[in-house]
Amino acid sequence: MTTEDPSLLASRLSVFPRLGLASLPTPLEPMRRLTAHLGGPRLWVKREDGTGLGFGGNKLRKLDYVLHEAIAAKADVLVSGGVVQSNSQRQVAAAAAKLGMECHLAVYHGRLAPPTPEYATSGNALLNRLFGAHFHDVPWTGNRNAAIEELGGRLREEGRRPYFVPYGVSNPLGAIAYASTIVEIAEQSRALGVRPAAIVHCTGSAGTQAGLVVGASLAMPETRIVGIDIDAEPERVRSDVVACARGAADLIGARFDESDVEVVAGHAGPAYGVPHAATIEAIKLAGALEALALDPVYSGKGLAGLIALIRARRWQPDMDVIFVHTGGAPALFAYQGVLGI
Ligand SMILES: *Cc1c(COP(=O)(O)O)cnc(C)c1O
Repeated sequence: MTTEDPSLLASRLSVFPRLGLASLPTPLEPMRRLTAHLGGPRLWVKREDGTGLGFGGNKLRKLDYVLHEAIAAKADVLVSGGVVQSNSQRQVAAAAAKLGMECHLAVYHGRLAPPTPEYATSGNALLNRLFGAHFHDVPWTGNRNAAIEELGGRLREEGRRPYFVPYGVSNPLGAIAYASTIVEIAEQSRALGVRPAAIVHCTGSAGTQAGLVVGASLAMPETRIVGIDIDAEPERVRSDVVACARGAADLIGARFDESDVEVVAGHAGPAYGVPHAATIEAIKLAGALEALALDPVYSGKGLAGLIALIRARRWQPDMDVIFVHTGGAPALFAYQGVLGI
């Protein structure tokens, strides 16, 4: 059996410059009480919610690389699209504040009906204001890209140099950035004497899963990457992950096998951004047993999917499975009224 060796992946990643916005490495911690509650496998959590800047989350790792490109291009304004409670936009706004850049957010309205009165103003929306972002309302239905282009055009007319952050910071460079998580997990697992059977996480705009898949192909070939669809569009998500991973594999010189992309359907609830009973159960378990703050849009659904796979006996009790906590806790406050606590 091969042992995990992250050195090849680490050296391939080292040629990509990064800004150092995220606090890395993030910890890999045991979830002993959740493991006991579910009766195994042994569960671990990779704390990507703990990347630091502006409440942290999985987008900071991608922004570290992608915004290096923005700065190299002498951009002075960041432009980003996302829904009202987007964690991605909040991390872009935080990075812009830290870097001394202006941040313009195209805020998509109408992807979901606001589930609570606090949805519009609390959580990420509050933090975006705190970090000094500028807001532009854009309808979800219609040509969102054209609206962002127009916003960029207006900024250019004012003599600014805008940089467009891709949706969810998910492009091949963002995926390369996320492959750095695999270097950390491989090193941490080796130090702990753990050989993870799987790494499970929630998947949305594709960059996270693409990075994990490409990284694992080089450094953890025996570990399965399992993405839990939270968009209620598993086919679309899977094809986005395949495209993004292919681009990332080309950039980093890895082989890419489509069969390595697994997107699990059935745990997204009725729609994106709408938590259902299993999501709320997962959030409460993680809080009560592990003092983890999961969110109702992403990580809560991700853990709901992992719990369902465990209950379906996907893994043996003596195996090790890592859950990636991708962040999103600020959205809890925007959904307070639907949590029933
Ligand atoms: C964006 C996000 C994800 C999904 O990551 P993608 O790279 O968009 O697939 C998961 N969890 C949280 C909390 C997020 O904000």
